[in-house]
Amino acid sequence: MGFLGGGILITGERNGAFLSSRQEMVKFQLVDRGIRDPHVLEAMAKVPRHRSVDAALWTRAYADRPLPIGAGQTISQPYIVALMTQLLRLDAGRDVLEIGTGSGYQTAILARLARMVYTMEALQDLADRAQEVLQNLEIGNVEFRLGDGSCGWPERRTFERIVVTAAAPDWPGPLLDQLDEGGRIVAPLGRGPMQSLMVGEKRRGKLIESHICACRFVKLVGQYGFPEH
Ligand code: SAH
Repeated sequence: MGFLGGGILITGERNGAFLSSRQEMVKFQLVDRGIRDPHVLEAMAKVPRHRSVDAALWTRAYADRPLPIGAGQTISQPYIVALMTQLLRLDAGRDVLEIGTGSGYQTAILARLARMVYTMEALQDLADRAQEVLQNLEIGNVEFRLGDGSCGWPERRTFERIVVTAAAPDWPGPLLDQLDEGGRIVAPLGRGPMQSLMVGEKRRGKLIESHICACRFVKLVGQYGFPEH
């Protein structure tokens, strides 16, 4: 909190709330662990992560951990968001498809780096809340859809970049079909409590895969995800 001349009160929120928490997060959780892409670091330093969680969790919003966002889902740990975004190799000329909008936090990060973000969420409550958060942050280059993202974006089109932010048993076939030649897809894959963060690159119609690290995500549900029970 601070005061400007003329008696105008600048609230913490308007005055770059949690700025120092964000700067510490970037240094200790991202830079010190090898995140190097300056655009990713800048986006992580600018997007107010606390706005994507319940106000009761604001003081923990920049901690090195995932947090609950309701409906049994979580907002990913900052490092994982930065790592997945860096692995996508985005630029302002490319569109990205995101499966699992969740809190909308990663959506906001992607929107700073890509031309358009197409994001799909299975749960109405989360989709509505994320849309509201992004509207309040005045982020306009995002298209939202409610539905089963394991089946791909509903319209017939392809993407150069695809990110899945929930664990899938294997690459969902429709997402590979919607990946452009030369495109990159990033997803956590595996059937156990821990998964493998994977990058796939489409070359001459084939997927070249690399394992990045072990990770732990909530499950992708739907036709090409895990069955719901
Ligand atoms: N990137 C998000 C992560 C949210 S957790 C964040 O940082 O907040 C994963 C999200 O994937 C959950 O919101 C869950 O509801 C959603 N999800 C799971 N299966 C899905 C599917 N088949 N289609 C779309 N969204 C799905």
